Amino acid sequence: MIQRMRLQPEAIGSGLTSQRVRDRLVERLREAGIRDERVLNAIRTVPRHLFVDEALAMRAYEDTALPIGHGQTISQPWVVAKMTEALLEDGMPGKVLEIGTGSGYQAAILAALGLEVHTVERIGELLRTARKRFRQLGLNVRSKHDDGRIGWPENGPFDAIIVTAAAPALVDALTDQLAVGGTLIAPVGASSSQSLLKLRKDADGNISQHTLAPVVFVPLLSGMID
Ligand code: SAH
Repeated sequence: MIQRMRLQPEAIGSGLTSQRVRDRLVERLREAGIRDERVLNAIRTVPRHLFVDEALAMRAYEDTALPIGHGQTISQPWVVAKMTEALLEDGMPGKVLEIGTGSGYQAAILAALGLEVHTVERIGELLRTARKRFRQLGLNVRSKHDDGRIGWPENGPFDAIIVTAAAPALVDALTDQLAVGGTLIAPVGASSSQSLLKLRKDADGNISQHTLAPVVFVPLLSGMID
């Protein structure tokens, strides 16, 4: 179920941000091994050019990470697609927690899929901009300005957790907030060698994990800034 978005003329785009350019990105992702049609459809629907600075809008449909200020980046579309696909492959989660809202693009993709999205960001200014985008597109996303390493315990447990910044090791507070049968996707490792991990929690609370792909993410940092 793709959530309906309020698409204003600037969301529909023209030239280098048009639907045709978006469709081409989807074809590239398909060629790069993304198979889940629900995920490809969400990428086709969400206007990524609205999640970057206007000066970068014409590069929004390249399969590349782009700067969003404060030394942070909007993830590469293939990474967003891969993480989202991994999150859905064992059944559709209801409630999802994202750590690292950044531009808001990953959260928008999850919301477009009809999931109940909760997202946490430590940089206030990025979060305020992301909230404007959610509002502009009519997407229902709950968000919090906080250090995401503590998760969002009042709203847990979550059927799925997606971490979009890399930590040297898995964060216990987050695995604790994962529901039984839930899936957690997170990049883990030193800045020079990170792996995208997929974890599952079974009925006894045991965690199993496997590696999806080598990745490069900005670091998961402590504390919050305005
Ligand atoms: N999901 C984002 C990717 C943003 S990059 C997108 O779609 O655009 C990673 C983000 O994680 C950055 O915005 C960074 O500020 C944030 N981050 C890093 N450490 C964090 C922490 N401890 N808690 C919450 N957010 C964090």
